[in-house]
Amino acid sequence: MKYLDSNDDLNIAIEYIKSGKTVIFPTETVYGIGANALDRNAVDKIFKIKGRPQDNPLIVHISNIDMLKELVTEVNEIEKKLIDRFWPGPLTIIFPKNEIIPNNVTCNLDTVGIRMPSNEIARNFITKCECPIAAPSANKSGKPSGTFIDDILDEFMEEDVIVIDGGESEIGLESTVIKVTEGTIEILRPGYITYDELSKIAPTIMNKNVTEKPKQDEKVESPGMKFRHYAPNVKCVLVVGEKQDIEKKMLNEIQEKIEENKDIKIEVLYKYNLPNLKLEKENIKYICMGKDDEEISKKIYHLLRDIDKRKPDIVYIESVEKKGLGIAIYNRLIRACEYNII
Ligand code: AMP
Ligand code: MG
Repeated sequence: MKYLDSNDDLNIAIEYIKSGKTVIFPTETVYGIGANALDRNAVDKIFKIKGRPQDNPLIVHISNIDMLKELVTEVNEIEKKLIDRFWPGPLTIIFPKNEIIPNNVTCNLDTVGIRMPSNEIARNFITKCECPIAAPSANKSGKPSGTFIDDILDEFMEEDVIVIDGGESEIGLESTVIKVTEGTIEILRPGYITYDELSKIAPTIMNKNVTEKPKQDEKVESPGMKFRHYAPNVKCVLVVGEKQDIEKKMLNEIQEKIEENKDIKIEVLYKYNLPNLKLEKENIKYICMGKDDEEISKKIYHLLRDIDKRKPDIVYIESVEKKGLGIAIYNRLIRACEYNII
């Protein structure tokens, strides 16, 4: 691994991409691990370094609208409006793919996800590479996405990659992924661009796997939804309901666990002040996820990663409300908790 500060000369990273290797770069959502999207062998390296399943397609990143034309066969009226309104920014649109894109980028689907990031370092970098960049999130497959540089350096220390440090990710959750079919926008993966914002452009629906566990062998629209993801090694439980219910449920659970084993190490990730919960015990650790959804979104992956460093026995996470940006956070939390919801 080689580290570059964003003020350093990025030529070495650009040469890396041109020679078919991978570079980790910042975007406004999360860090991406990128390679030339038109070079099949380079794309293979991403799958290998991440340990990514062969049927989880990659998003292709572009830096200007001219790059879109060679990658897709068609852009419909609604997609044009979405591009006008939300690009550059955290929205990935699924288009019918052009042959120029190797099949390993899209895992043999006839569609491709494309995004134009707003982060200046990312856009400059893509422009100078003179090619579209296929880039999934910078993390080993299954782990929380990389949003803090130290987490990324830790995880990719042994790999043949260059890392461009752009500071902490601004948003902290991956892009909203959508598909437009017969005049309707379908949200396949929720992100910073919300249902309400998309609804202003065209009728919008939320794919049911956004908030529900896919059934075994169910075909999912967004392949990424079926994989174990974001989960720490430690068991996490998501506690849902009204604020008072959450507090009551947590209190009961914690007391029960302590009765079973008085030395059990418990962590509570909370959003609101939970006054009744502050059981003053050495083996319970309380961690605030943030004052609002924006802050939680920024910090959540780093917090989830930190859990495995401390290795408690169990973690209780206070759920967020399923509205606005909260839906995107909820979507990540149910999966971090492997659908353990009380
Ligand atoms: P990541 O790059 O790790 O943020 O994950 C990319 C996400 O986009 C995954 O959930 C993929 O399933 C989804 N995705 C990428 N390409 C497509 C596509 N052609 N059709 C549907 N979903 C896609
Ligand atoms: Mg990912």
